[in-house]
Amino acid sequence: MRAALFLDGQEDLVVDEVQVAAPIGNEVLVRTAASGLCHSDLHFMETEGWVLPRPIVLSHEAAGVVESVGPDVREVQPGDHVICCLSVFCGRCEVCLSGQPYLCVQSQADCVRSPDEPSRLSRGGQEVFQFANLSSFAEQMLVHENAVVKVRGDMPLDRAALIGCGVTTGTGAVSAPPGWSPAPRWR
Ligand SMILES: [Zn+2]
Ligand SMILES: [Zn+2]
Repeated sequence: MRAALFLDGQEDLVVDEVQVAAPIGNEVLVRTAASGLCHSDLHFMETEGWVLPRPIVLSHEAAGVVESVGPDVREVQPGDHVICCLSVFCGRCEVCLSGQPYLCVQSQADCVRSPDEPSRLSRGGQEVFQFANLSSFAEQMLVHENAVVKVRGDMPLDRAALIGCGVTTGTGAVSAPPGWSPAPRWR
């Protein structure tokens, strides 16, 4: 598949072929229909000191159609339309089970591949890193099933994509209760 890569020593993104692995376990392969450009992506490209491992595929505000699923996936199936969500949750920890999955910090360990498994994305045999476990500047996204939310099939996916970050960020900003603070990974 083609993806826009942020490479070492390059200011601009480079579109090139990237290999995407087949889904295992709870992973879902999504055909990207639309992806927004969030200012966070520009921050990482333009701000010195915000160092990301490279090569990396940026962006995290997307919607698409499920193409295939791993053997343990229960929430979606091929053909489903989904919004991708950067705040993936584990579904088993205390905050997840008490209805606050957006506070989950366990997901970073539970919803990524272990170091002894092949990377989700690669290029010429070299690992390509994912941004926010999504990487939507690409024709396909390989993500954990808890990083997608199924939507109606008639919802325009170019508008659904915006719910992935921009809409939820704004909604969260105006609806957060007094004293609420984000999960530690976002501080
Ligand atoms: Zn964003
Ligand atoms: Zn959790």
